[in-house]
Amino acid sequence: MNPRNRLNFSGGPGALPESVLLQVQEAIIEVPEAGLSILGISHRSDWFAAVITELESNIRALLGLTKDYHVLLLQGGATQQFSMVPMTLLRGASSAAEYLHTGYWSGKALPEAQREGPVRVLWSGEDNGFTRLPDDDELAFSEDSSYLHYASNETVEGLQFHRVLGKDNVPRVCDMSSDFLSIPCAAERFSLIYAHAQKNIGPAGVTVVLVRDALLQHAPEDLPGFLDYRCHAKTHSNYNTPPVFSIYVVLLVTRWLMNEIGGVENMARINQDKATLLYGMLDSSDGFYRGRAREQDRSLMNVTFNLPTPELENRFLAKAQAAGFSGLAGHRAVGGIRASIYNALTLPAVEMLAGFMADFQRREI
Ligand SMILES: *Cc1c(COP(=O)(O)O)cnc(C)c1O
Repeated sequence: MNPRNRLNFSGGPGALPESVLLQVQEAIIEVPEAGLSILGISHRSDWFAAVITELESNIRALLGLTKDYHVLLLQGGATQQFSMVPMTLLRGASSAAEYLHTGYWSGKALPEAQREGPVRVLWSGEDNGFTRLPDDDELAFSEDSSYLHYASNETVEGLQFHRVLGKDNVPRVCDMSSDFLSIPCAAERFSLIYAHAQKNIGPAGVTVVLVRDALLQHAPEDLPGFLDYRCHAKTHSNYNTPPVFSIYVVLLVTRWLMNEIGGVENMARINQDKATLLYGMLDSSDGFYRGRAREQDRSLMNVTFNLPTPELENRFLAKAQAAGFSGLAGHRAVGGIRASIYNALTLPAVEMLAGFMADFQRREI
């Protein structure tokens, strides 16, 4: 296996477990149970129906999800959910939806909601350059909103909520694209969760949507079929030709999570160790590495930081690349450095990065 795969710190698409990649390699030529390449298996086959059934059941088991949620596998990425959510819940509604603007991705969701109905932006981090998340006393949730929408992890800025927000009588909708299945998320407290695969759980092409059946009761009747969650629920995510390959890889990742990692709580412990190591490195660097996010809002998935000058940052990135670390450049919207340490990025890989950072600092000062 190419050792550079192990050092893929990209913000997304992210690293995948080596054992999964090896199975994918085999499946490209032949899925043993089906006798065909994964790229040419019919989405109407019994084999694929079993894939969907097992994947749904794995996701339910990993999150302890009850029967009243649909588990949907959709296309269009998180971006399509920015529109599908308000088309379903806000079109024609009398009360406003509440949105939090905590960074790049939750900001992208806003104009899509505003197209569909009234939106109240409860809090925006724009004034502080999205370096922190709101405290509880800055959030005046109302009792009668159509729903509350926020992103649990801001991938670009490296900010993560370490608590569930909102009022229990207002449906919570959450973009968990970049921390889904990386920590327990109290799924039953949300009415709708969406997460595309390509950060933590697979390749691009499929988005997991968990939605409570009751939330769909009042959806407009005239939505385009593809944009109506009910069509996908009725057809078990087989409304039109689904991305069979991407869905299969997500299934392999859930098996890995269950059988090799031992569930989401174990995954969370590993992710916590990885993050503690890197943030410890920043905090003990005497200001050489400067964490971007306020301490209590630090993301366990995306560690963002700066160096004293842009020149040093460029040198850091060039040397890191030469040493085999890839994907460390910050998102184009904020610059700096971002080490994304998704589920499949191992603790030894993070230790190697921390070692590299210590060496780099020693040589430069
Ligand atoms: C990457 C990302 C997105 C964008 O997702 P697409 O699948 O490219 O549409 C949205 N939200 C979050 C939190 C992300 O990290």
